[in-house]
Amino acid sequence: MSHAVALGAAAHRPGGRRAAAFDVAAVRATVPALHQQVNGHPLVYLDNGATSLKPQAMLDALLGYYGGYCANVHRGVHALSVQATLACEDARLAVADHLHVAGPDAEAEIVFVRGTTEAINLVASTYGERVLAPGDEIVISALEHHSNLVPYQMLAARRGVVLRFIPFDAKGVLDLAAYRGLLGPKTRLVAIAEVSNALGTRHPVAEMAAMAHAVGAVVLVDGAQAVPHGRVDVRALGADFYAFSGHKCFGPTGVGVLWGRRALLEAAGPWHGGGDMIRSAALEGSTWADLPARLEAGTPHIAGIIGLGAALRWLQSFDAAEIASHEAHLLAALTAAVEAVPGARVVGTAPDKAAVVSFVVDGTHPADVGTLLDQQGVAVRTGHHCAEPAMRALGLTGTVRASLALYNNDDDVARFAEALRRAARLLR
Ligand code: PMP
Repeated sequence: MSHAVALGAAAHRPGGRRAAAFDVAAVRATVPALHQQVNGHPLVYLDNGATSLKPQAMLDALLGYYGGYCANVHRGVHALSVQATLACEDARLAVADHLHVAGPDAEAEIVFVRGTTEAINLVASTYGERVLAPGDEIVISALEHHSNLVPYQMLAARRGVVLRFIPFDAKGVLDLAAYRGLLGPKTRLVAIAEVSNALGTRHPVAEMAAMAHAVGAVVLVDGAQAVPHGRVDVRALGADFYAFSGHKCFGPTGVGVLWGRRALLEAAGPWHGGGDMIRSAALEGSTWADLPARLEAGTPHIAGIIGLGAALRWLQSFDAAEIASHEAHLLAALTAAVEAVPGARVVGTAPDKAAVVSFVVDGTHPADVGTLLDQQGVAVRTGHHCAEPAMRALGLTGTVRASLALYNNDDDVARFAEALRRAARLLR
C-alpha cells in the first residue's frame, strides 16, 4: 500500500474519529502521573512548558511495542518487523493529521528526529550549510529559545552568514516595524517560535512569514510550545520548516519531528550518514534514499515514534476549540492569581498569549519561590528558560514560570494561588 495514498485519505479526519466533548475530569483520569502526592500534597503540575505528563494510551503504546511486537523496522521480512514498520508509518500519519499536511508529499515531508533541538540543527547543518552563502542573513527574534539561536550562531561561525535580531517590547510583543526593516534581499531564512516558551507570546507567524516570503526568504517555525495545544496548519501558517518535540506534547522524550517542504528538504541533502538513508552503498561512494529515509539514518527511536503517534491521537481525540477555550480560561485565572499577590508581577503581557505565565515577586529569587511552591506540591519552572538573551533584555536573570496543559483545572489554579501567597509571605 502506498503511504502517500493513506495519508491523503485520512488527513482531514484526525484519528478517523469524531472528537469527544471536552471534560477535564475525564481527561485527567487518562493521565496517571497527575494522581500522586508530592511532598505530602496532591501534585499540581504547572511545568508543562518543560515537559508534559503522559496519557495511559501513550504508555500502553510503548509497552505494546517493547512488550509485544518488538523488532527493528524497514528491513525485516518477519511479522514483528512488518508490524513495527506499519506502526511507525501510522505515527507519521498522526503527525500529518496534526500538522494538516496531506497529499502525495506528506510522507516525504515528515522526518522523525530526536526533538526540536535536533530538527533545527538539521536545518542549520544541511539547508543552512549547503544553500546559504557567506553574507546571507538569518533573521530571528531576540526572544527565541537557545535551540532556535545557537545552531545559527554555529552556522554563522562556519559559513560567514549574518544573524539579525527582531527586538521585542516590555510586554513581550515583537516589533514588526523593526522586523520589516531587517528584511531585505540578503535575508535567506527567518526563524521564529510560534509561541515563546519564556513569556507565552503567540507571535503573528502567518503575517511574519508572508513578509519573509515577499523578500524570498524561507521560514522556520519552532512549534515546540504550540503543538501541545492543538493541531497546527503549517501551510496556513506559512512555515517552510516546522519543528516540534514529542515530550512536550504528551509523547516520549527523545523523539520529535521536522516537517519541511519537499523541495527544501531535497535541497538540504542528507545529514547523518549510515544505514537506511542510502539507496545503494559502494566502497567508492553511495547514493541517497528518497525522503524521509534520506534524513533518518540509523535505527530510529521506534518506541518513541509509536508513542508520539499515540500521544497525538490522544490529543486529537478532544475538540480543539474546547481545549483552546479551557486553556484560555485557565490562563486568565492563573494570570489573575499572580497579579493578586502583593509584589508579584507578570512578565510577558502580550495580548495574544498561550498557556504560560512568567512572573517575578519583588525582593525574592525565582528559585526560592519555586522551591517553596514545590514544598506545597506545586511544580513550576524557574530560571532563564533557555532564553537568556530575552531575560537579559528584560533586565532579569530569570522568572518563575507556570505553564498549562489541557489536563489542568480550576483546582490547580486555586492551589497554585494559595501556595504562591504563602511563598511570597514567607520570603518577604
Ligand atoms: N523551542 C522551544 C520554544 C522550547 O520551549 C523548547 C524546549 N523548552 C525547545 C525549543 C527545545 O526542545 P527540546 O529540548 O525538546 O529539543
